Amino acid sequence: MPVGTQGTVKTVPQDTLEALGAEIILGNTYHLYLRPGHEAIRRMGGLHKFISWPHALLTDSGGFQVFSLNELRKVTDDGVRFRSHLDGSSHFFTPEHSIDVQIALGADICMAFDECTEYPADRSRAEESLRLTMAWARRSLDHFRAHRHEVPWSDPKGCGMQCFGIVQGGMYTDLRRQCAERLVEMNFDGYAIGGLSVGEPRDLTLEMIAETLPLLPKDKPRYVMGVGYPDEIEQYARMGVDMMDCVLPTRAARHGLLFTSQGRLNIKNKQYAEDQGPPDPACDCMVCRRYSRAYLRHLMQAGEALSGTLNSIHNLAFYLGIMQRVRDSLAPATGNQEAGSLKLEARS
Ligand SMILES: [Zn+2]
Repeated sequence: MPVGTQGTVKTVPQDTLEALGAEIILGNTYHLYLRPGHEAIRRMGGLHKFISWPHALLTDSGGFQVFSLNELRKVTDDGVRFRSHLDGSSHFFTPEHSIDVQIALGADICMAFDECTEYPADRSRAEESLRLTMAWARRSLDHFRAHRHEVPWSDPKGCGMQCFGIVQGGMYTDLRRQCAERLVEMNFDGYAIGGLSVGEPRDLTLEMIAETLPLLPKDKPRYVMGVGYPDEIEQYARMGVDMMDCVLPTRAARHGLLFTSQGRLNIKNKQYAEDQGPPDPACDCMVCRRYSRAYLRHLMQAGEALSGTLNSIHNLAFYLGIMQRVRDSLAPATGNQEAGSLKLEARS
């Protein structure tokens, strides 16, 4: 899922995302709540309509930004008080309020409000954080079930908005297991593994996913939040992860870092100044078909806005291409059953 923090996948227009084959994008509840405000978005018919994205949308709970952007937050069992990073105004988020905001935004998938445990965290800190996350998961789900019909769109097919729970537990496998089991008992529509890619070494990320994934139902979406590099997303997808989101392809692009079939390419390097070749010879995206490395380097050097756009389009095409290849290899003509057994093979 490309990340559309403020109702936009930075520098890339929606029609281009469609042309790239993006089927779902992510919006950040914290940012949209502060600006333009969830009530304004509700009045305008919801986030799909506001940003003109008639495809799937997922909103996070706001928890991650509340905890990562606010040094002065105050956490109680009830919720978390924080100051806006925009104007310093004071706000209070509870699980119920996070769900209300997400229902007003009206994405297809909302996330339970959780506390993302920082890394490193000692065991007592991880246990306390987990206790809070599990209590907040219960309250998020109860509130969601009571109010899910209040989305700002009509729902003729009746499939409705879905709510996913988030497994936390720091880097302690027994806490992760405990959390996963409790959340599965609550019967969410899907499950995410959160609190990863927060500065821990990659083998620890892998260990947490490998320990947690088998405990989550295979017939529901399994989502690892906030990962990762191209080789990581392929590895996790082959382990059985269905969904991932990451700002990396677009953020790196704006800094001139391209992910290619030949590895990472820093387009700012002088060696590309007169390189007439495409950014990635193996890529057939709209950027690689049309523009040279020399031109992309020039745009970057000149500080032109088009630089971020073209770099982002290529990186998104590269990421979406990886996922397409994984899907193709998991789903031969024989259908889902076969795909399931291949998934299991890949995992073992
Ligand atoms: Zn390309």
